[in-house]
Amino acid sequence: VDHSLDYPTSPDDMDWSTHYPAYFSSDPSSSKFEPNHKVEWADVGCGFGGLLMALAPMFPDTLMLGMEIRTAVTAYVADRIAASRQVQETLASDSPDKLPGGYQNVSVIRANSMKHIPNFFAKGQLSKMFFLFPDPHFKVRKQKARIITTTLLSEYAHVLQPGGILYTVTDVKDLHEWMAHHLHAHPLFEYIPTEELAGDAILVAARTSTEEGKKVERNGGDKWIACFRRVEDPPIE
Ligand code: SAM
Repeated sequence: VDHSLDYPTSPDDMDWSTHYPAYFSSDPSSSKFEPNHKVEWADVGCGFGGLLMALAPMFPDTLMLGMEIRTAVTAYVADRIAASRQVQETLASDSPDKLPGGYQNVSVIRANSMKHIPNFFAKGQLSKMFFLFPDPHFKVRKQKARIITTTLLSEYAHVLQPGGILYTVTDVKDLHEWMAHHLHAHPLFEYIPTEELAGDAILVAARTSTEEGKKVERNGGDKWIACFRRVEDPPIE
């Protein structure tokens, strides 16, 4: 049902002002994104949005975006963000419930991340990408539908800046091994030992704050983590 998906021809054609109105100039003639404000973090296959709702008040100066292919789920997340923004706007400035950023720094789009990531983001635009509890596609003949493959990793590397981090978390051991294998094999990614990220609030949120992560916790399941850093482009010979 791809024909119903909206996506820009190139990142320059993307109008983010409707997604992050508080971060744009109020000048109506400037529909352009302010150069110092751009989406930096992407939650790929964000589901019901738990990660970004947790991270948004923790990092109020960072614009973050959920990408989700299911229409109804995307609409749910959009409503959730709108409602949270509205609540924040009504709070008195001295209210203890007032959160930094007021959820103005988080948004969601309906998108097929396996096809259109380079349409939305320019080279090196992102500093973090999250792949949390992606669909496992257990059957061998369906594995090519997995969201981490060598080809797709090259696209993710394109939009990630050197030093940027790609996070994967899953409760499916076989999928973990698949993702880690492809990432290890890719020249533009280097493994970050999980101990190095111990205590990293972002990894804690990635493991625990999504709806799927909470479900796995309730069921006492294991969680497998693999994080990789985007390395510098190799010098051109
Ligand atoms: N990350 C969320 C969490 O941890 O709760 C959701 C996990 S859920 C198992 C996987 C999500 O990825 C689903 O909501 C699914 O619709 C979405 N998804 C699958 N393929 C996708 C694609 N190509 N582009 C965007 N989203 C996709």
